[in-house]
Amino acid sequence: MPAYTGVRRLLGAVLFLLAALAPASAPARAAPADTAETVRIGVLAFLGADAAIGEWSPVQRRLQAALPGRTVSLVQLDHHGLHDAAAAGEIDFLITNPGHYVELEAELGASRILTLDPGPPRAPERSIGSAVIVKAGSGLRTLADLRGRRVAVVSPEVFGGFQTAWRELARQGIDPQRDFAELKVVGLPMTGVFEAVARGDADAGIVRSCLLESRAEWRNNFTVLDARSEPDFPCATSTRLYPDWPLATLRQTPPALAKEVTLALLAMSAARDGMEWAVPADYQAVHEMFRELQIGPYAYLREPTLMVLAERYWPWIAAFALLLAAWILYTVRVEHLVHVRTAELRAALAAREALEARIRANQEQADHLARLSVLGELSGTLAHELNQPLATIANYAHSLIRRSDNGRLTDDAVREASGEIAGQAERAAGILGRIRGFAKKRAAVRERVAPGALATEAVALFRGMLAHAPEVSIEDALPASAFVEVDPLQIQQVLLNLLKNGYDAARGLPPGRQRLAVRIDEGTGESAGHARIAVRDHGSGLDAAARERLFEPFFTTKSDGLGLGLSICRTIAEAHRGRLTVDDAGGGPGCEFILSLPLGPSTSEPPEHRTDHAADR
Ligand code: ADP
Repeated sequence: MPAYTGVRRLLGAVLFLLAALAPASAPARAAPADTAETVRIGVLAFLGADAAIGEWSPVQRRLQAALPGRTVSLVQLDHHGLHDAAAAGEIDFLITNPGHYVELEAELGASRILTLDPGPPRAPERSIGSAVIVKAGSGLRTLADLRGRRVAVVSPEVFGGFQTAWRELARQGIDPQRDFAELKVVGLPMTGVFEAVARGDADAGIVRSCLLESRAEWRNNFTVLDARSEPDFPCATSTRLYPDWPLATLRQTPPALAKEVTLALLAMSAARDGMEWAVPADYQAVHEMFRELQIGPYAYLREPTLMVLAERYWPWIAAFALLLAAWILYTVRVEHLVHVRTAELRAALAAREALEARIRANQEQADHLARLSVLGELSGTLAHELNQPLATIANYAHSLIRRSDNGRLTDDAVREASGEIAGQAERAAGILGRIRGFAKKRAAVRERVAPGALATEAVALFRGMLAHAPEVSIEDALPASAFVEVDPLQIQQVLLNLLKNGYDAARGLPPGRQRLAVRIDEGTGESAGHARIAVRDHGSGLDAAARERLFEPFFTTKSDGLGLGLSICRTIAEAHRGRLTVDDAGGGPGCEFILSLPLGPSTSEPPEHRTDHAADR
C-alpha cells in the first residue's frame, strides 16, 4: 500500500496549500474600494460657492480625520452640475436640498444615509420652510395679496426659497407663472432677494425660513406674509415645514465607505464641530409636495393622459358628444324619412302608372267604340254604297252571258265588261278595306305624316261610305315638308266625325249648301307652329245653346245621335297637344270646326305618308 499512502499525502499537501492561499485572496479583491485615494462629496451651493464650502467644511474636516490615508474633498456645484457629476460617477456622496434629493433619488438611485440636525428646538424632520417677505408697512398681508405683484426668488428650482412656497400658493389657486406680474429671478446668493425687495425692484420675495432672523437689519425692515406659528420652530414661516438636507450615497458608492462615513458623521456634535447629523428623516412630505405641484419625479402627471384630458375638458367633450349624437340621430332620421318617402313615391308612381295604363286602355276602348259608332251611323248608306258596285258587276256579268247566248260576244265587249267588273270590285274592296282598317282595335301610335294626307284619306273614307256623297274640296297651303307626329287613325276619326256632322247639318238643304270644304294651313298668333285643318260646312249652323254645350259628352240634337263624337274628338286633339275649336265661318251659313296640331320641326326629309291630293279629288 505504499503507493496509496503517497497519493493521499500529495492530495493533503494540495488542499493545505489551497486553504492557505484562500484568505489572502479575499482582501486583495476588496482592496480597490477601500484604498480609493479621494473621497468626493458633491454639495449644492445655495448661498454661493464660497458660502457652501464654508458651511460644509466641518464635514470635510471630520471625514478627513476619520478616513486617514484618503483625501476627502468637497465639490460645490449648482443643481445641474450636481446632477451631472452624480450621473457620471464623479462623486461618492452628495449633500443637497430635500427637493433636489428626491429628484436624484428617483432618477439616479441616490439614497439618504443621514439628515442634517439643526439642533434644538428644531427637529430634523421639521426644519425647512419658506418665508415670503415684504417691506414692513407695504400693506401686503397674505399670499393672496401677491396676485399681480412682482416677486423675487433666487431660482424656481430652490426648495426652501421657492418650491415650498409654491405649494401654498397653488393651494390658494395662485399660479406664480400666470398670476404674478413678474417672477423675478435674482440668482445666488439668497441675500439678493432682500436687496431686490428693499430697492423696490420687487414687491415681495421668497427666502428660506430663518434667513430673515439671521440679520437684525432684515428683521426690522421686512415682515413675513401669512406667518404661521409652528411648534418648536423659532422662525417665521409662510409654509409648512419639511425635513432638513440629507447626505446621500450613489449607486457606485462602496457600502463599506458609506458605513465609515455614516459612523463618522453621526459622531459629530454641534458643540464640538458646529454641525450635527441625525439618522435619515422621512422625506414623504417632499414627495407629497412634488406630487401636488406635478414637478420633479411627478412631472409626468402634467403629461395629458386621456383621463386627465377627459377631466379637464369634460364640458367640451360632453357638448361634442351631444352634438355628435344629435347629428347621428338627425342623419338616421333623415335617412329613414328619405327611405319612407322614396317608398311612398315609388308606390304613388306605380299606382299612377297603373291608373294611366287603365285610362289608356279605357281611352282605346272608347275610341274604338266611337269609331264603331260612326260606322254604325253610316252603315245604312254603306250597305247601299256597296250594293251599287255589286249591282254594276252583276249587270255586266249578265250582259256578257246574254251576248254569249246571242253569239254577239265580241272581244271588245268582253274587255269592256271585264274592266268595269274589275273596277267596281276594286272600289268595293277599297271601301271595305278602309272600314276594316278604321274599325280594328289597336293601341295608339305616333307617325310622322303630312296633314294633307290625313285629310285626303278621311275624305276618301267619308265619300266611300255615302251613296250620295256631297262635294268635298281640299285645299292644302302647307309646304310639302310639313308634318305632324300623330296617330293617323285617330286624326282621321276626328276628321270623319267633323265631315259627318257637316253633312248631317246640311241634310235636306239644296245641294249648294251641302258642299263641304277642308282647308289646311299654318296657324298664326296663338296657333303659330300648328297645322290647322278646318272643316267647313254650309248647314244649319249653331245656336248659342248648342255652341255652349257642343263638346259635352252626350249632348246631341239628333234623334239617332250619341252626343259623344265631338267630346271624343276634343280628347284626341288634346292628347296630341292640339286643340279642337268651332268658328261661325265668318257669319255665313254653317260653321267651321278647326283642328290644330303642333307641326314637327322642319326637315328636308318628306313625311312618311304623303298622298297626292289631286288624284283623290
Ligand atoms: P252627335 O253627332 O252624335 O250628336 P256630336 O258630339 O258629334 O254628337 O255632336 C253634338 C251636337 O253638336 C250635334 O247633335 C249637333 O247638334 C251639334 N253639331 C255638331 N256639329 C255640327 C255642325 N257642323 N253644324 C251644326 N251643329 C253641329
